Amino acid sequence: MILKQHEVPYNLLSTIAILLRLPESHSKFQNCKQEVANYYSGYKGELALDYYLTFVDQLSVHILHDVRLPFINSHYQIDTLILTPNFIVNIEVKNLTGFIRFNHEMGRMYQYIGQKERSYQDPLLQANSQAHQLKAFLYNEGLSHIPIESLIIFVNQKASLSEERDKRIIYGFQLKQRFDEFSKKYQNSSLLKINSLTQKLIQQNQPLQINMLKHLGIREDELIYGVICPHCLHIPMLRVYGRWICQSCLNTFRAEAHVRSFYEYALIISNIINNKNARKLLNVDSIHVIQKLLKKAGFTPRGETSNRTYLIDVNLQNKAQYLLNYYLKMSKQNRFGEKRVFFSETN
Ligand SMILES: [Zn+2]
Repeated sequence: MILKQHEVPYNLLSTIAILLRLPESHSKFQNCKQEVANYYSGYKGELALDYYLTFVDQLSVHILHDVRLPFINSHYQIDTLILTPNFIVNIEVKNLTGFIRFNHEMGRMYQYIGQKERSYQDPLLQANSQAHQLKAFLYNEGLSHIPIESLIIFVNQKASLSEERDKRIIYGFQLKQRFDEFSKKYQNSSLLKINSLTQKLIQQNQPLQINMLKHLGIREDELIYGVICPHCLHIPMLRVYGRWICQSCLNTFRAEAHVRSFYEYALIISNIINNKNARKLLNVDSIHVIQKLLKKAGFTPRGETSNRTYLIDVNLQNKAQYLLNYYLKMSKQNRFGEKRVFFSETN
């Protein structure tokens, strides 16, 4: 059974929020677009694994998706873990397409699409280091005897793997067969109480949150401010008599539109906002209107009236999933090729 579901990567949502507000003329626009595409493909790949997992006998196993665990001064991320009473499987998911060739001696993986070649690090290196780090975790729990197996699973049906490859690198449809082989191999190994181990792993999980603006080298003041139209993604909408009006598609919206801007602010800049920054964010001049909107949104106020801040204390990985739809909309409408109007900031 699945004990921990997939998470929409925080950084994916954060990078989409930036892309929506980045002028196309910006030197980092293509980088940002590529970063979103990479995160999105990785996320879709992890979801695609679910289909192949349904063929694994799930009665006596625990499945954990997206586990990020501390190791010395850093962290390591595991796409999927299968815990059984006899052994553990560490799964790394790849969503690449095209012909894939490996040079394990040189630690490289090559992807060929048409005439194009791209080189990556050999995924075996990553899987080996994950297994090593997991081993250290088990050692601390007094479980160093539990065998760990690693698999690198290519889930995209448009991938063709070179025959010359390590046997841990497989297609999705081979998962069941490999899992059954492991079950046979370890059927006599000592039994592991997986309940408490699963709980420990979930407790220690720390989702990755990096400041994507900094990571991409984009300054806060280079972004386009204003409320995004949920229908056509035009930015900014105008506030008229308590409603948001899109000047492009003429649709009107109520609170859901600006509450989303607050979520985006939290994803891009900070989950703490004051009146001044909220006015700039929504393109609204009135201190009183902003005060009302922040209060109504239900965010937790902190401090005295003069320097009051609000904590945007929501689970953004759930609440901001609409950004995935925005991204699909953007791609479908080919909005990347369209010029957007840049409105000057108000303060
Ligand atoms: Zn619109």
